[in-house]
Amino acid sequence: MARGSVIVVGAGIAGLSTAWALNRRGFDVSVFEQGPIPNPRATSHDEHRITRYAYGALEGYAYLMPQAFAMYERMFADIGADHFARSKVVYFLREEISWHEPTIRALTRLGAGFRDIPLAEVAQRFPMVRTDGLTRAVETDDGGMLFPIRILTDLTVTLGARGVRFFADSRVSEVDPEAGKVVANGREHRADHVVIAAGAWVNKLTPLLADVVVPSRQAVMYLAPPPELARLWSEVPVLIDMGLRSGTYTLPPRRGTRLKIGDHVFTRSGDADGDRLATGADVERLESAARLAYRDFDRYQVLERKICFYTVTRDDSERFAVRPWGAKAWVVSACSGHGFKLGPLIGDGVAAAIAGERSAEETSRWAAGQLDLAELGAAEPAA
Ligand SMILES: Cc1cc2nc3c(=O)[nH]c(=O)nc-3n(C[C@H](O)[C@H](O)[C@H](O)COP(=O)(O)OP(=O)(O)OC[C@H]3O[C@@H](n4cnc5c(N)ncnc54)[C@H](O)[C@@H]3O)c2cc1C
Repeated sequence: MARGSVIVVGAGIAGLSTAWALNRRGFDVSVFEQGPIPNPRATSHDEHRITRYAYGALEGYAYLMPQAFAMYERMFADIGADHFARSKVVYFLREEISWHEPTIRALTRLGAGFRDIPLAEVAQRFPMVRTDGLTRAVETDDGGMLFPIRILTDLTVTLGARGVRFFADSRVSEVDPEAGKVVANGREHRADHVVIAAGAWVNKLTPLLADVVVPSRQAVMYLAPPPELARLWSEVPVLIDMGLRSGTYTLPPRRGTRLKIGDHVFTRSGDADGDRLATGADVERLESAARLAYRDFDRYQVLERKICFYTVTRDDSERFAVRPWGAKAWVVSACSGHGFKLGPLIGDGVAAAIAGERSAEETSRWAAGQLDLAELGAAEPAA
């Protein structure tokens, strides 16, 4: 007999991971999704996402990363496919930014490999990178790329085979967190618990995080590099360029994906239900950041300019907001650029809280990356 019933709203990485963790614990799970499953408009729906240990000032998340990697390994064993390409991650620092010291402290405490690349070697190893203005280059060993579309699809297939019920094209318009009730397409559904994992739509379903998170319209570009660099690009690691005023992250083409470049400046504006046509204004900042990072950037052919949405914190904290709401609901919101790599781990934590394995207060602090290494060892979920 099931331990209880749970309605999960949203079939992105947060919702599907929570469904996976609840299903493993013996709960009866239903997933409501406003579009198809997986949904191309979801933040999670993309060719690749970066995963890595180096976290700058958000040290608490660096300490979660060994568990986050282990949770993905467990997921891949369970779905029978490995959607992860291991790769080093190389950071190019262009100014004296505050990233270096806390990152090196966390990597050292975790025993994760890293080293400086002498600046004189950068041009030879990474001929596509602009070396003017570089102050430091750091290579880290533990990281790589996750392949989200394949992960979401395989997870859906696995969960369906285990009895998870999917309600596609079912937009939830109302949630009653005290009664465990949702209304979707005009019909009421009840469960012992409701988990809202609605990504950039979260504030349309609950007022709980209205002061904390905001959707942010972002642009990314998929590119074809100049032919003479194509081979090199297929072999380079994930590249991250960091300055005070601009920065880019670049995922090289791997396993059938395209070269992708994005920046890490949040617009904190836009509506996830709005249009997704990339305008010149959407890509202007990204293009100028890319010109600062790469030589001859204008020779790269643009294959697609894509608009997608982050949910980000209103302040600069970039922390997950995971909170109980009323007697029967939880709200899960990934904030900024670590929602995919941490999704399965956070989903497991939410399921652990619902199953009574961990207190609500500790779950919220843990998901916010506010436990240190010693506390994390003691707080690991028992699933
Ligand atoms: C450009 C970009 C680059 C990123 N890069 C990285 C990276 O390199 N590494 C990393 O770890 N993270 C990265 N992220 C962040 C990461 O992708 C997100 O944090 C994560 O995918 C969010 O997942 P989610 O499940 O919370 O939201 P979503 O994937 O958006 O899922 C929410 C789902 O809920 C559904 N929904 C919403 N409202 C309703 C409703 N009322 N009824 C029914 N269904 C509803 C939506 O349709 C959607 O399918 C990046 C994000 C962006 C935008």
